[in-house]
Amino acid sequence: MVSRKHLKLFLIIALIFRVITTFCHDASIIEITKSGNFNTFTNYDRNQYYLDSSFINAALIVLKRYPELENIKIKYIKKNINTMMAARPVIGSTLKQMGKRKYKIITSTNPKNKSEKLFRQISINAYEGILSHEFAHILCYSKKTGVQLIFYSIAYPFKKRKIERETDQIAIDRGFGKELIEYNQFIITSNLVSKKYLKNKERNYLSIKEIEKIIYK
Ligand SMILES: [Zn+2]
Repeated sequence: MVSRKHLKLFLIIALIFRVITTFCHDASIIEITKSGNFNTFTNYDRNQYYLDSSFINAALIVLKRYPELENIKIKYIKKNINTMMAARPVIGSTLKQMGKRKYKIITSTNPKNKSEKLFRQISINAYEGILSHEFAHILCYSKKTGVQLIFYSIAYPFKKRKIERETDQIAIDRGFGKELIEYNQFIITSNLVSKKYLKNKERNYLSIKEIEKIIYK
């Protein structure tokens, strides 16, 4: 039988693993500067250029409505993750002063959710929709101290629905309600998106109807 001591140890290891995987550092591909310029790094090819240029265009439009993030460094990374896109602090800078912290937006290369193909078909409005959600996450992170961020990351799996719905609400407050709806319509009608991803969206995020209710009230 598993003793209480072992269970405690297991929980501590699981929490440490959770923090490390959340904030894990990767090689960046693009770094957007506040002037709208960007620097490119490794793994750069023609296909990625298409994806990257539409990302940059959408990101710059969205950033204009998040003036608080103007001086914050955000890196664009491609990585095999389970969701389409994610925003996280860069691990090495988590405990730095809030103004000096760096963040990353990760686009999935996971072959199961076919996100690379999907992002080649996405409209600029839908791209703005998903990015406005990711920048809303970064806005929340930017208001937290390093220690608060670590606890926030540990609590995330237990408060996922609340956090994700509040993040959608921030994006709507910044004027991206219609774009969020367009993103949702895009993924619902696409034959590239996995059922698992759609179920997760349905369970944890604002629905099209809920967003419509907010923006047309
Ligand atoms: Zn989110």
